[in-house]
Amino acid sequence: MLMTAEDYMDSLRQCRLNIYLLGEKVENWVDHPIIRPSINAMAMTYKLAREPESEALATADSMVSGKKANKFNSLFQSTGDLVTKVKLQRLMGQRTACCFQRCVGMDAINAVFSTTWETDQQHNTEYHQRFREWLKHVEEKDLCISGAMTDVKGHRGLAPSQQADPDMFVHIIERRNDGIVVRGAKAHQTGAANSHEMLIMPTLRMREADKDYAVCCAIPSDSDGITMVYGRQSCDTRKLEDGDIDVGNYGFGGQEVLIILDDVFVPWDRVFMCGEIDFSAVLVERFASYHRQSYGGCKAGIGDVLIGATASIADYNGVRQASHIRDKLSEMVHLVETIHSCGLACSYEGRQMMAGNYQPDTLLANVCKLNVTRFPYELCRLAEDIAGGLLVTTPSEKDFRHPVIGPYIDKYLKGDPEVPTESRYRMLTLLHAMSTGLVAPSYRTESMHGAGSPQAQKIMIERESDMENKQKLARTIAGIDKREDVLA
Ligand code: SF4
Ligand code: FE
Repeated sequence: MLMTAEDYMDSLRQCRLNIYLLGEKVENWVDHPIIRPSINAMAMTYKLAREPESEALATADSMVSGKKANKFNSLFQSTGDLVTKVKLQRLMGQRTACCFQRCVGMDAINAVFSTTWETDQQHNTEYHQRFREWLKHVEEKDLCISGAMTDVKGHRGLAPSQQADPDMFVHIIERRNDGIVVRGAKAHQTGAANSHEMLIMPTLRMREADKDYAVCCAIPSDSDGITMVYGRQSCDTRKLEDGDIDVGNYGFGGQEVLIILDDVFVPWDRVFMCGEIDFSAVLVERFASYHRQSYGGCKAGIGDVLIGATASIADYNGVRQASHIRDKLSEMVHLVETIHSCGLACSYEGRQMMAGNYQPDTLLANVCKLNVTRFPYELCRLAEDIAGGLLVTTPSEKDFRHPVIGPYIDKYLKGDPEVPTESRYRMLTLLHAMSTGLVAPSYRTESMHGAGSPQAQKIMIERESDMENKQKLARTIAGIDKREDVLA
């Protein structure tokens, strides 16, 4: 049964998270004003699954049970499913204007599904059947899953087993009859505190000495031994102030968490990789392709809101019809549609894996993400250009509401006299949130480093580009190799 957004919120209240924020343990984290917007964003994935207009996009027939499941818990059974994934993510971005977090779990589920199938063929293990059973339970209960990949990594030049501190990568510290015990930490984990369970994955290629680090398993978020530390976001304490203007986007926000795993026990039926080093990189690369595809959806949807806000502030400033403003807005649309086109293209070019689910085209997914490491920066630059300097100099809402200085602000910060100053204020704080404030991390730095930093995409693009064939084409046309006879 699919949960409503309200059911989801209630279910989170049953999770006894051990979570810290601003130096304090947070007991009622569901209602905490800094955390709540990120829960709202995740809840939108539940809302859309029950809305008649979006239900077809936001749900799927389960490949493991045949029953209806939330799209974010589902396996992709065709290239069409990959396409609707990206369209759903664009819609989610439009409705929340932030990172809505649940895609990491969806991408992890699909990557682990195909990897466990092939691991079993190679190693005579039984991970895939275990994973199917776990996924049935996830879909049936409509749980939210966070995908936990990025280790804290320590010295970047050293392999996991070479680190001075062995805990720099999550690893198995004990193998028991009933399961394993893991230790380590995962950094900047999207949506970890909003999810019922986390799906732990390795973060890079492993060598023989790294066997204990090749681990994949599912753990309930409130298991013994787990501590979460909520990551700061620019201007986050504005959420603790009275009023509803200065934050810009009160409804929704992203969330990144440092997860500390202090000797956490995992029973065998939740272990999906345990020392198979040859499948560590396979899993990482598959997850990366899915998540690089994802950015062709979410970043386009968030970009739509940014463009809408930029056009609106141009209206409020009375400059909307200036030719250079119209030109810049068209440029912004071009950037957003290019991002989305790449997300769609890698989906249409997807392929079926041996396990039966579908994977986006690796080269095009990496091109998609590499564009995302650049275009949102240009989009923000154009938005800031059009918005003007007031974007970063607006007095606070408290001043705007002040009985003495408020009327001055209302008079002097008005643009087009037909538009209330408050509307201009609200649009500016939204733009501020999206370009430099609260939401900005998920549109700028997250665009750069989320799903892997740009160099990771360049490496994959180089590997997938078949340069030898391109050179052969050139040699043939140039007459260095034998020219093709069109009449032959
Ligand atoms: Fe989803 Fe985008 Fe957030 Fe990744 S960055 S979890 S794809 S919304
Ligand atoms: Fe991300």
